[in-house]
Amino acid sequence: MFSDDAIRAETRAAGRRIKRNNLIAASLSGTVLAFVSLAIFPHSEAGLLTGLAAGLFYANGFEYVLHRFLLHSGRGIFCRQHMVHHATLHSPEVARYVNFSSNPWGVVALFCVNAIPVFVLQWIFRGAWGAGVFTSFALYYMAFEEIHWRSHMGGWLPKWLRPAARHHLLHHAHDTGRFNVFLPVFDWLLKPTLPLWNVPNKKENPRL
Ligand SMILES: [Zn+2]
Ligand SMILES: [Zn+2]
Repeated sequence: MFSDDAIRAETRAAGRRIKRNNLIAASLSGTVLAFVSLAIFPHSEAGLLTGLAAGLFYANGFEYVLHRFLLHSGRGIFCRQHMVHHATLHSPEVARYVNFSSNPWGVVALFCVNAIPVFVLQWIFRGAWGAGVFTSFALYYMAFEEIHWRSHMGGWLPKWLRPAARHHLLHHAHDTGRFNVFLPVFDWLLKPTLPLWNVPNKKENPRL
């Protein structure tokens, strides 16, 4: 029999290894896709900057839609896996379920799926922004993975990011709402579509 502390330490080490591999997969996927875009499509400095902004907005919206409509859909394998993350937050095995994917190939698949609409739109409009989109999508993913981990597992976060951690912990406290993990742009934009969204405030939940 292993003690809770031993399980906690073992799963934390495994979770860190998985996170590292996911971050490597994200940086390589983003780099390869950016270079493919540069090689195939026209590019310019203005296009790159436009792509960086568009990619940030797209990544934030994708995170929101995936989390709200797939991971909290109430059915399917992705929803079941996400519910395990919600259910294990206070268990010794918490670290096993904090990362976006337990396998870096899941991260590669995420980038490949998102590359399809970007390449199709670039091909239609002959846009010069693809490399920027892939770069900021990769940076967003890496920030999401690291901030999500630190929100749950502890670790240094700059002062200005601590409200982000609290934002996500409120999502867990209520099991719904606040679907952006650290940058609540789409939470704000789509707030009117959540009529039952009733997130408790700090007074009601002093532990948060
Ligand atoms: Zn959730
Ligand atoms: Zn979480």
